Amino acid sequence: MTQSPARAVIAIHGGAGTISRDTPAIEVKAYHDALADILRAGQTILASGGSALDAVTEAVRLLEDCPRFNAGRGAVFTHAGTHELDAAIMDGTTLDAGAIACVHQIRNPILAARAVLEKSEHVLLVGKGAEAFADAHGIASVTPDYYFTQARYAQWQRALAAAAVQLDHDMPLKVNGGDEPIDPDSKLGTVGAVACDLDGRVAAATSTGGMTNKAVGRVGDSPIIGAGCYANNASAAVSATGTGEAFMRTVAAYDVGALMMYAGLSLEDAATRVVSEKLASVGGRGGLIAVDAHGNVCLPFNTEGMYRGVARVGEAPMTAIHA
Ligand code: ASP
Repeated sequence: MTQSPARAVIAIHGGAGTISRDTPAIEVKAYHDALADILRAGQTILASGGSALDAVTEAVRLLEDCPRFNAGRGAVFTHAGTHELDAAIMDGTTLDAGAIACVHQIRNPILAARAVLEKSEHVLLVGKGAEAFADAHGIASVTPDYYFTQARYAQWQRALAAAAVQLDHDMPLKVNGGDEPIDPDSKLGTVGAVACDLDGRVAAATSTGGMTNKAVGRVGDSPIIGAGCYANNASAAVSATGTGEAFMRTVAAYDVGALMMYAGLSLEDAATRVVSEKLASVGGRGGLIAVDAHGNVCLPFNTEGMYRGVARVGEAPMTAIHA
């Protein structure tokens, strides 16, 4: 099935939540610029006939390299002051999937996940085994200081002081009874991309440092196929962000496609229902980005905002942070 170029589309997210209202305009613009640049990179791949799988891989790789977001460089800290990264990718045409979790020294977790998809008989590799696999397939490794950013360190210190495990954005928790959000200056998040290419193939990719002050060994929804990442040409490609445990308990990414296939819902109705009803029913906070094989796009969230953007081939990228 060949789609018209106007239907080929990529959508990305940089986490559910928003930056504080008094963030300087220049800093807000930097987020929009980063999102738009990454969208353009994905658009270029799609415009030249590249696959949705390649477009989401490249978009998430670039999001991981951008320290503004909680994935790759700029990942949040665990309770032990370390970094543990998770990522997943899925091809909606073949239903092939690859994921890695709890890795400490891979520069681009999404490239390791892609290698698992293509070069392994498995779907999910964790810890040292995942790192050895990535190494054997030429994926670049880094020392832990690569992930360090001052903003994340300060965020972790605040979470430690509050004895809280924190979503990396939109945090209502107050510190020491004061009015300050726990992370007033760096509400950044997990990243993801979904795309539909010129041939109507869809793919999804998600990558994260997880939640600030999380227990060592904790794995969230992002690398779990069906929870934080899912793709099927017959329904939709979905990448999620938010309180991971709630996305796992509701199998949120898969549920969008299931509502479409089994209940006949449109992409928009399915995605909106998962976020506003199913997630909310277990106290889940966050959002998702979804695209179907017709190029329909939906970006629902139940937080104050979500870093996000959409770019159709041949059209200017659109980016947004607040609702
Ligand atoms: N979903 C991620 C996790 O629970 C966190 C996020 O989206 O910011 O690991």
